[in-house]
Amino acid sequence: MPRRFLVTGGAGYVGSHLVAALGDRGDTPVVLDNFSIGHRGAVPAGVQLIEADLADPVAVDAALAQGPWDAVFHFAALSQVGESMRDPLRYLMENAGNGMRLIDACVRHRVPRFVLSSTAALFNLPGDGPIPENAPIDPQSAYGESKWAIERALRWASQVHGLRYACLRYFNAAGADPQGRLGEDHRPETHLMPLAIDAALGRRPPLTVFGTDYPTRDGTCVRDYIHVTDLAAAHLLAVEAMARGDVRWNLGNGAGYSVMEVLQAVERVTGRAVPHVLSDRRAGDASSLVASAEPALRAGWQPRYAALDDIVRTAFLWRQAHPNGYGS
Ligand code: UDP
Repeated sequence: MPRRFLVTGGAGYVGSHLVAALGDRGDTPVVLDNFSIGHRGAVPAGVQLIEADLADPVAVDAALAQGPWDAVFHFAALSQVGESMRDPLRYLMENAGNGMRLIDACVRHRVPRFVLSSTAALFNLPGDGPIPENAPIDPQSAYGESKWAIERALRWASQVHGLRYACLRYFNAAGADPQGRLGEDHRPETHLMPLAIDAALGRRPPLTVFGTDYPTRDGTCVRDYIHVTDLAAAHLLAVEAMARGDVRWNLGNGAGYSVMEVLQAVERVTGRAVPHVLSDRRAGDASSLVASAEPALRAGWQPRYAALDDIVRTAFLWRQAHPNGYGS
């Protein structure tokens, strides 16, 4: 029997790729989005849409009342590290507040499982070794702090109310649907890979490299880029794994690339130079974030687009086909 899932932020970047994966598998996703960040064009025809704001308790309650749900996937959130350091209280109030309101409604409506879109920004370890899921939590940004607050709330909801949960800490989501249906379209765009691709295409000014004095091999920040379709697959697996207990997975390829190495990959894939200027550090950035995804891999997760150039290629193909993203 097809299962029914509520996907908050299902019109956003990672959420829309999960909605596609659920549909491909014959399940029934229902998208909840307020379109403050997500795009109507990212919601496939035929998918039920609840246009609602998670800040509105009445709307949240009405959405959950449309169950029963096999699980709720919670993506809807502000997600920019830099912005969170200019307006930290907004991040804490919106992300943490909305997350807790949603968890509370899930408990009241007896939703059995909750999957949280969490982040590597919980961590800040010295060195560049892979980070396991039980590494010390030390967010360097209000964005990371806001996600940690929701993870903590889930722990209590599990302990007291029996809500099963999975916290999926994405390292750097990147790339686009290999079938070309979906891609990355943030407004404004702040992420490295789409900005570098647009700079190579001459559609943006030169890319600004934030910080060249980090303790890394070339002085620029090291990140673990993970294909958005592989992330979606991990969500499907997490729902199965939760039958055996609460889940905390760090999701990445276990390979770190510096900002300069990403620019080189974009140059290889596009065949064009990436114009760039070197600049100061961006507030809130950790030096190196590389995942140890052991528990997810043990549960059967197999990233299919692990090579950096493959990730860049899917992003580039989508951008070429959709130079204005989902449209104006
Ligand atoms: N970055 C950069 N220039 C940009 C955007 C990002 O140098 O215009 C760097 C950023 O400082 C970080 C890495 O690229 O070290 C990845 O940043 P992004 O915003 O893509 O993801 P985040 O790591 O913040 O989730």
